[in-house]
Amino acid sequence: MWPLNRRLMAMLFVAFFLGAGPPRPARGGDSGGIRTIKLKVALDEEFRHRSPRLSEVRKWVATASYFFEKHFGLAFEIDEVKSWSSDNSRRNLSALFQDLYEKTDRGKSDIVLGISGQFRGETEVSGVASYLHGCALVKRMRYEYLTGLTIIHELGHLFGAVDLMEKSSFMNKDEPRLECDEFTERVVGLNKYRRFDLAAFPLSAEDMNSLLPLYLERKRLQRGEAGVSLMLAIFYLEMKEPEKAIQECLEAEKIAPADPAIQRLRKLAERQGQGS
Ligand SMILES: [Zn+2]
Repeated sequence: MWPLNRRLMAMLFVAFFLGAGPPRPARGGDSGGIRTIKLKVALDEEFRHRSPRLSEVRKWVATASYFFEKHFGLAFEIDEVKSWSSDNSRRNLSALFQDLYEKTDRGKSDIVLGISGQFRGETEVSGVASYLHGCALVKRMRYEYLTGLTIIHELGHLFGAVDLMEKSSFMNKDEPRLECDEFTERVVGLNKYRRFDLAAFPLSAEDMNSLLPLYLERKRLQRGEAGVSLMLAIFYLEMKEPEKAIQECLEAEKIAPADPAIQRLRKLAERQGQGS
């Protein structure tokens, strides 16, 4: 997730449309080294009320697909668009994410991408994603290109990318740009064939062994990137090493004390520790 920085709006606008290129034709399966990911797009009533036509959603997905194909050999295809009655009592995007996750049946799609028009204003968090659940939620923003850029950023999280203090990257925490840094390129590359089966961890043991040193190496740079520790905690939890997972959560909480995802993960790790 990332808060919005207005200063870069004009630059992002140019970058978004220059980088976007023409929409690509849809593909099926995995061909020529390109893996096609099927999206179930859920649009809430507030979004549909303001945007009854689907053309802008298709444009966002086509732009994300173009960007991911260029950098990672991944393409996105809309499998189904469905209506989602978003709970109007949810106070923030994280709470609304739970609502989306509970109400949306993934079916045969790989990823659930929710787009909500419920929250107005540009100040709060604009997107939420869960790597383990293969689900992302994006808030519709005033500027179309920013919604599109947020979709690309949140989809990055679903392939192991984390918020970075990295100037020229779509994973930059505060000012994402339509560029890719070397660390994210490696991380997403190793997540290219991740599973979206909720009953299994997204990665094989072999892929985890390749990724773990990358996150550890990144952490050693001490850039204050909470997401790096969060991913390490997710890995340690899967490896049944709850103490290491708790330690990573505590380190992440020091950087991002109010992040509910970190707190949830720490509680899971504590439960695992008590059970073993
Ligand atoms: Zn983020």
